[in-house]
Formats: sequence, structure tokens, C-alpha cells
Amino acid sequence: MVLLQAAVKIVTHDAAHVLQARETYRRVMASAAAPPHSSAPVGRATRALRRAHESTPGIERPVTSVSELVRRIDMLYAACFVVLSYMVGPRVSEILHLQAGCARRLDGNAAGAPVSVIVGSIFKRQPGYDGRPHEWVAPPVAVQAISVLEALSEPHRGLTGRLDLWLRRRRGNGAWEWHEVRPELLEIASAARVSHLLRRFGAALGLSHLDKPWRLTTHQGRKTFARFAALRDRSCLFALAQHLGHRERAQTDHGYVGSDYRLNQEIDAEILNQSVAAWEHMLAAPGLGGCAGAEIVAKRPRFRGSRMKQDLRSYARLLVDAGLVLGVCDWGYCVYREEHSACLGNATGPNPARREPSTCARCQNFVVSAQHRPYWLEQVRRSERLLNEPALPLQTLRIVRARMNEARGLLRALGSDTGEETDHA
Ligand code: SF4
Repeated sequence: MVLLQAAVKIVTHDAAHVLQARETYRRVMASAAAPPHSSAPVGRATRALRRAHESTPGIERPVTSVSELVRRIDMLYAACFVVLSYMVGPRVSEILHLQAGCARRLDGNAAGAPVSVIVGSIFKRQPGYDGRPHEWVAPPVAVQAISVLEALSEPHRGLTGRLDLWLRRRRGNGAWEWHEVRPELLEIASAARVSHLLRRFGAALGLSHLDKPWRLTTHQGRKTFARFAALRDRSCLFALAQHLGHRERAQTDHGYVGSDYRLNQEIDAEILNQSVAAWEHMLAAPGLGGCAGAEIVAKRPRFRGSRMKQDLRSYARLLVDAGLVLGVCDWGYCVYREEHSACLGNATGPNPARREPSTCARCQNFVVSAQHRPYWLEQVRRSERLLNEPALPLQTLRIVRARMNEARGLLRALGSDTGEETDHA
């Protein structure tokens, strides 16, 4: 968590300042007329960095020297790698061979929201598989990491006419990577170089395990990503195998998910936090749909006054501690009680093989709130489109109509004028 939080902060907050400092350095070095490798321009660059800092106070971690600039650029590369590896999950070579323009936006998903993907190639030494084009679904922060890499690599790409995001000057050149660089000195960073970078990044953050410095490796992010996704919901293994570019689902299952006590603990803690947040939302939402939603609205206590936020949170925590852990998915919340479970779940939770929107929609455990409206609106629209297909068999049309009515019923319970919303879509 500390690692990822730090990486996200660097990519989203610090990157602009570091990139600006690098431009200041390049500008000063380019205009300096001094014998090669003279230290005078470096001193001038340092003064320019300090002046730039003084003219823009309030920067949390300013870059005020050339050596600091070199270190921060390396940390920026490491942070981008961590974000891509832990939040998207490609192999190290797949990340290192990404190219400018690889982040793309696709049209809406099932819930109608646009989806971003990173487009690259599979790097796996298997005939007929290696080099195959691949798309990874990417969260906004991963798209931001790609933008940062595009900005970082821009001078080297301009010089070589190549598109590679990880073009770097060979090791040991410090700030000279950004000054007087020649195309033949540039190469895609190796996995060993990134490993070294990650170890420095971990040390800078003070990461440790069992009182020893934690040695970050290039493969940990991909494994952690897979375990987080699969341990929470093993029904997603097939989709996960596709996302990771595995040929077989079994590889995802055995090689990546395995059993990891500490990771399971972290996931459980995350599920509890998510449940508390969802209960807080349900206790305060003006309207809820679904059978359990109506029950909650009728029975929930009223929270008022200046301590309302704290009271809501304590009550939500109380419910979770009492065992009312919620299942959270795109289409709603599941207040799981085995005896009411329409998916025929057992004592440990819902049955993933039968858990799907239509089963949930008629389940006594199901709740929808305003944040799930886009999902159900899209269901109504999709059903309407299907009902206009004259070639569909009668039986299929009946099922589609039933699903459309289900979705409309949930939207109505949320106070949506579904007719108007879908008519004007
Ligand atoms: S059908 Fe859906 S809401 Fe009902 S128990 Fe299963 S997962 Fe929960």
C-alpha cells in the first residue's frame, strides 16, 4: 500500500515539477558556451533551478540541484513502472516496450462509461504468441503514468525518431542523459536496470519486511495485481487470464494466485473498508432500490446534527463488525444473507457461478443506489435496441422484455424517470 500510494502521488503530483526542472536544466545547458564537461554550466543550471523554485513557492519537494534532478527523474521512472505493473499487470518487457500513443480510450463498457486501454505486445517466448498485439484495461492513473513517460522520453524520441517510452542513455551518465546525447547512446532500459531502480525506490521509501530492506523486483507488481483481482472474486479468472495475456486460465490460477496469508489479510481489510464505505453511502442515500434497499430505507436510523458524519461512520463500522459485510459489484450491493440468496450461495458467501445482474435484481439481498444508475440505464437501452430486432425469436424477446422491466423497476425505485432518460438518450 505504501509503495503504491507513493508511486501514485509521484505520478499525479510531483511529475509536473520534475519535468519542468528538467526543461530548466536542458535550456541552461543548451545555451551555455563552455568547454565540454566543464562544471560552469552545471553551476549555472543549479542556480536556475533554485531561482525557479523561489519564483514558485509552495512546491512540496522542490528540485534545487542537478544531482537532485537526476535522482528525481529516476524515481519518476520507477513510480511509473510501479503504477503500470501493480495497477495494470503487464510483464516487465511488455512495459519496457510500450510506445508513445499507446493509451487509448474505447467506447462505453456495459455501464456506458468509456474505458481506457494500453495497447502493446505480448512478450512471452512461445512460438506464435510472442509479439502478438494486446490491450490491457487501464485505470486513469495508469493512463497518467503513460503521459508522464511520454513527456520524459520526448527529447530522446525526437532525437532518434523512435516511439519507445523507455529510451534511456546507458547507465552512469547522470544529468548528461539530457544534454549532448547522441542517438547511438540511447537504448530501451533493460529489466536489470529497472530492478536496480526499483530497489533504490524501495530504499528511498524506507520499505522493509521482517526488519530487512524490502527488495522490490520487477515481477512483484504483476503477481500482486493478479492476486488482488482473483482472490476477491475467483469467477474473474478467465477475464484476468485474458487481461494478463496468459494462454491458459490454469496458469493464472496456479502461478499467480496461489495462497498468500499476508496478501489475503490485506484483501480482507480492503473488503471491510469497502463495506464500511458502502454502508455509509446506503445509510445516507436519499433513495435505494432492490429488495434489501427498501428494507434498509424503512429501518435505518436517522442521522442529524454536527456529528452526523462520524455517527454514520461508527454505525457503518458497527454493521460490518456484526458481520454485515457487503458484496460490491458494478450493478449494486449484496447484503449477503444465505437464507435469502437467489444465487444459491453457501455459508461463506454468494455463488459466483450464478451471481449475475438478473439473479441479483430479484434477490432479497440486493441493493442499488444512484451510483449504479448508469449500469441499469444501459441495460434498458440495450434491451430496447434488441426489442427492435425483428429477427429475434419470440422466446428471446420475452426474456429481453423481462430484463428491461427488471432494470426499469430498479431505476424507478431510485426515483429515475426511466422513460424520459432512455427516450432522450
Ligand atoms: S444473487 Fe446477488 S444479491 Fe443475491 S446473494 Fe447472490 S450475489 Fe448477493
